[in-house]
Amino acid sequence: MDSSKLHALILSSPGMGHLIPILQLGERLVTDHKFEVTILVVTTPSSAESQLLHPPTGPKLFNIIELPPVDVSGLLDPDAKVVTQLAVMMREARPGIRSALSNMEIRPTVFIVDFFGTESFEIADEFDMSKYVFVPTTAWLTALMAYCHVLDKEVKGQYVDQKEPLRLPGCKALRPEDVVDPMLDRNDQMYHEYVRMGIQLNFSDGVLLNTWEDLEPTSLKALRENEDLLSVLKVPVYPIGPLRRPPEAAGSRIELLEWLDMQPSESVIYVSFGSAGTLSAEQITEVAWGLELSQQRFIWVVRPPIEGNVDGCYFTAGNGPDGTPDYLPDGFLTRTHKMGIVVPMWAPQVEILSHPSVGGFLSHCGWNSTLESITNGVPMIAWPLYAEQKMNATMLTKELGVAVRPKELPAKKVVGREEIAKMIRTVMEYEAGEAIRERVKELKHSAEKALSKAGSSYGSLCEVIEDCKISLQ
Ligand code: UDP
Repeated sequence: MDSSKLHALILSSPGMGHLIPILQLGERLVTDHKFEVTILVVTTPSSAESQLLHPPTGPKLFNIIELPPVDVSGLLDPDAKVVTQLAVMMREARPGIRSALSNMEIRPTVFIVDFFGTESFEIADEFDMSKYVFVPTTAWLTALMAYCHVLDKEVKGQYVDQKEPLRLPGCKALRPEDVVDPMLDRNDQMYHEYVRMGIQLNFSDGVLLNTWEDLEPTSLKALRENEDLLSVLKVPVYPIGPLRRPPEAAGSRIELLEWLDMQPSESVIYVSFGSAGTLSAEQITEVAWGLELSQQRFIWVVRPPIEGNVDGCYFTAGNGPDGTPDYLPDGFLTRTHKMGIVVPMWAPQVEILSHPSVGGFLSHCGWNSTLESITNGVPMIAWPLYAEQKMNATMLTKELGVAVRPKELPAKKVVGREEIAKMIRTVMEYEAGEAIRERVKELKHSAEKALSKAGSSYGSLCEVIEDCKISLQ
């Protein structure tokens, strides 16, 4: 380890959606800004996470420290939500973080945590480090988190039951139907953890955001200038995104990319619901028929339906004679084998989205997936499932104009095959989709500009680094 370099310690909470942008941030600090980086991972990583942390090829860019697993079961209700579990796990990880730091030969100078990790800032103070929060999603959501404790006083009853959109000073108001998961039930522990996390953003020296100036001008302006927001988020915000993910080694999926090579330009719709998203059996059937009816080429990453998820197995007993899993319509694989590929569980998403044959993405609107689509100029069908994805979907359709969204959601649970087929054709070929296809390409260029040496996101990260250097003096 080179002691002349700035050394950043980055704490990641568990989950692919959190770890992926943290690794990207680490890579950016190493390659563009010559940092030493140590990534601290709470709890034993899953095998997919391990693969990301320890890629079989390529240079080793970071030191990785995996903290011993923390048993939080005794501290939680048996039915505690995932966000609550994460928040408690990150809180209980503090002794492990302290001891990891004490054992480091060269002490880090900067401590960056994602928003689940703000309670560890007390450790940054003990070890005299600058402190930053990394919010792996939008400026709009950051404003909501910071303002949540004010809404808590202003709003009576559950947020989802409100008749009017929730006021967010200077930002687009939040429709009750887009309220994020942690705010769905104000009586749940998860909600109180969320309010706390919003307040604790202020314990940092600044908040790094995975967004850029031209993507969210309104929310960023509000975070910097609106007095009501400044009174709840008193530290500066730094839009440093989009953090771009390095291509994954395609490995056994290489045939997928070879198949893509043979397809016409922008002719394939890619369908995926993120690292963990699953649909009901009924909805999977409708998606399958929707793909068939659309007559477009496709790659579909499928997980077993929520009801029938047996140990994460994909091809379970009951497969049809052509290998079609029992939760897809009979003969689906045979009928569609010239048109598409069904991929069990996991696909090399970045490679797929950056392939010239891909012309659309039906996505759950996780923020990483959203950015991967935009930065590759791929228009979307926004089909949010959980977390803050409904907000993202609204932003993509109503503000950015790069996506279409099912009409029936969220009022009706199942989106029908005709509507799915129509959305696919709109995004891929109908004249009605022309504007979104053009707009997403404009945003792709604006992202490239933001990341260039003269660009706003590059400049924003340089500002953070300068502040770190000053605080060392
Ligand atoms: N991902 C992937 N292959 C898959 C599913 C997901 O590479 O089959 C990656 C995707 O590229 C993205 C991340 O996993 O970087 C998912 O993060 P996102 O924020 O989109 O959603 P989450 O999984 O956290 O809901």
